[in-house]
Order: sequence, then structure tokens, then C-alpha cells
Amino acid sequence: MSGSTTIQNRVLLLNGSTWEPLAVITVARALNLLMAGKAIIVEETGVFLRTVREKFAIPSVIALQTYINVPRRRAHWSRRGVLVRDGYICIYCGVRPGAIVKNKVVARSDMTVDHILPRSRGGKDTWTNTACACADCNHRKGDKLPNEAGLKLRWEPKTPRTSYLVIALGTGPAVWRRYIEFESLDVGDDTNNSRGE
Ligand SMILES: [Zn+2]
Repeated sequence: MSGSTTIQNRVLLLNGSTWEPLAVITVARALNLLMAGKAIIVEETGVFLRTVREKFAIPSVIALQTYINVPRRRAHWSRRGVLVRDGYICIYCGVRPGAIVKNKVVARSDMTVDHILPRSRGGKDTWTNTACACADCNHRKGDKLPNEAGLKLRWEPKTPRTSYLVIALGTGPAVWRRYIEFESLDVGDDTNNSRGE
């Protein structure tokens, strides 16, 4: 495929009717699905692929024409996944990479993974018990609960649908974000007892 080095080479595939994210696929596979009439374009990249006779809009997001039944896979927890899920934003103070704190530009590498219920008190490596925190907030929190340290969660940490999509989010185009939802799963080892209802 000529010109493929200059185009975005990954496409987000959504399920039919529900538009639930299914996978990240190559442009070649996406074009095959589109040409076979099995999928429709949801978002374009604005880039075109020209062949001798035709011109194809390179998609960024496509959806299957029909719904396929796929089993829900539970997302595998990882530190990188937590940081990407939270957009590298501190859950306590809201500081984000690029901000200037104490005359220093905050970098992604400055962000840490905080255990809301500390590990020393039995907190586990789960999506709902961990969140992105800046070094200052993580240090301030130490072995305390957020309220004990005078810190407040700015959002409720949720379990993503599939971990590889979370990783893809970190490097994928911004337009993908609106199709990738996070959900709270009731898991047995859920240590964050913050349900309000
Ligand atoms: Zn912070």
C-alpha cells in the first residue's frame, strides 16, 4: 500500500448497533471490512489513499454493520494502564503533564500510581483501588486514606472494558476517547467502597 508510512496505521473497530469498542485494527483490515460492506466509517482521518483508479478515505473509527456477540473480557490491571486511563492527571490535585509546579515542568514520568486504600492496609492492585497521582500528593497521602490526608478524589476510578484499548488510548488519536467508555464492575476484591447509592 503506497503512502502507508505517512498515514495513521490503526483504526478503532466498534461493534454493530451498540458501537462498543471491539479492537484496534490495521488500516488494511479496516478497508477490507469497508469494501466487503461489513463495516461503515464513523470517523475519518481526513487523509486519503489513492490507487490508480480509486480514492479511499482513511478511517479513524469504523463500526461493523451487524452486532457480534463477544464475551466481556475483564481488563488486566497494570500501572501503565492506570496512568493512561487517568490521562496522567493527578486524581487529587488535578495537575497534569505540562503544568509548572515549583518552577519545574511536570512530565508524564513524574506521575505515580497511588493505592487509594494503601497496600500496607490491605489495598490491592485493582482498577478501582488505584489512580494516577503526582509525587507530591502521593507523598502527602502516604499510608493514609484520602480523607485522613485531607485529599479528595476528583473522579471515581473505574474498570476499563479491555486493557489493550486503554493502552491504545494513550497513543491513539483524541477522537477515539469518545467511543471508549469505562465502567465500574462489581468485583469481589473491590476495596474502594465508595458507592453512594
Ligand atoms: Zn497531585
